[in-house]
Amino acid sequence: MTPEFRYEIFKWDYNQDLNGSQEDCIPLQLQKLFYRLQEPLRKVEETKGLTKSFQWSSNEVYVQQDIQELCRVLFEAIELSFSLSDNNENNFVKKLYQGKTQSIIRCCECGYKSFNNDTFMDLSLPIMNMFEGIYNKSLEMAFMNFIKPESLDGDNKYFCEKCNKKVKAEKYTSFEYFPKILFLQLGRFYYDFATEQREKINDRVPFPLILNCNKYLKEYKDIKYNESESENEEYCLNDAEEIINNYIKEGNNVYELFSIVIHSGTANGGHYYAYIKSFEDGDWYCFNDGNVSYIDKNEIKDIFGEKNSEKINKYKSTNTAYYLSYRKIEKGEKKLTIKDMVISDKLKELCKEENEVIIENEKIEEEKRKFIKMGVNPNKEYTFNIYFEIQKNGNELKNESLNDKIENNSDEFEEENNDCESKSIKLLGKK
Ligand SMILES: [Zn+2]
Repeated sequence: MTPEFRYEIFKWDYNQDLNGSQEDCIPLQLQKLFYRLQEPLRKVEETKGLTKSFQWSSNEVYVQQDIQELCRVLFEAIELSFSLSDNNENNFVKKLYQGKTQSIIRCCECGYKSFNNDTFMDLSLPIMNMFEGIYNKSLEMAFMNFIKPESLDGDNKYFCEKCNKKVKAEKYTSFEYFPKILFLQLGRFYYDFATEQREKINDRVPFPLILNCNKYLKEYKDIKYNESESENEEYCLNDAEEIINNYIKEGNNVYELFSIVIHSGTANGGHYYAYIKSFEDGDWYCFNDGNVSYIDKNEIKDIFGEKNSEKINKYKSTNTAYYLSYRKIEKGEKKLTIKDMVISDKLKELCKEENEVIIENEKIEEEKRKFIKMGVNPNKEYTFNIYFEIQKNGNELKNESLNDKIENNSDEFEEENNDCESKSIKLLGKK
């Protein structure tokens, strides 16, 4: 759902001599997956080829992988594969996702500053940090605390080169620039050393649909920040043109939220799904395994977190936003659509044989769906307590036991395998 990313992936040219086997090549597996999603052969596409290229076995697929770690593996593999190819003049991963910060220490006596540059592909923002007494009640508060200066005093005094002595100083992080696509991770998981367990933080942390990053390029003391506004639902869900135009007056670092990865579950496990805004129609959709369904944008407030989190049993499963993707708003920018995606003949050729297998397997699966297999214990009375709906000639026959159907309408079933241990019954009705 990031067309720029998909576009660059499609543009890349796989070369077996440079990139190794097809199976192990992450960008090629991504190409194949994107191609099959764009020109679907079936209702649901599988990701086995991709996860296999990560060297994840089928067991590891079921172990929860950290999103940050996944992005790191994915980006590094893409950068490496692209750098091996000749057509790599632009490092598109860095261009899209990399931002820059500076870590600054300022001497409080002479004002001398020492700088340390750092780049980031995503930002991890804590919800709480008990040691530093940080308790962030909104995303904007988390941003403020991220750049808030820390005082170096007492035992922590800093040696200033200019003053040539230990002085009181201020240490802080400042943003140099933000990337086009800004990934933010909310620190919902931590390891509790007291309980020796992984814990999930269920607290409510609202985040705005339109994020004004212009202010975070300023110094902490110069930022106008409204704490109660940043926690307000109505403010957060407001993505009107007017608010965007107001922010743009301050500079071009205005971002719109387009994807939210949601963690459903407890600290010990659960499930991820995502709300994503489509650039093609401007609507929000819920992506949950094989299902994609429309959602109203107001549903976003339901995954901000729990208002009275301290009263929540830690074993209770909650649905909370975990990983946010924001995109820089560029007025007048021509957005890439599905029509702009160039799928090479080479990629189509590489997929051809696999596609034939997929189509063949789909037919077999379709045929299998017409059968219901069940085991029968020959020592027990021959009764089924299974009820289901059978549709025949458009008439719904509800809640009839299969046993009744066999006895009363035996001509409707074709018994395939007539021993007592297992029976295949073909439903001749359509569904
Ligand atoms: Zn100094």
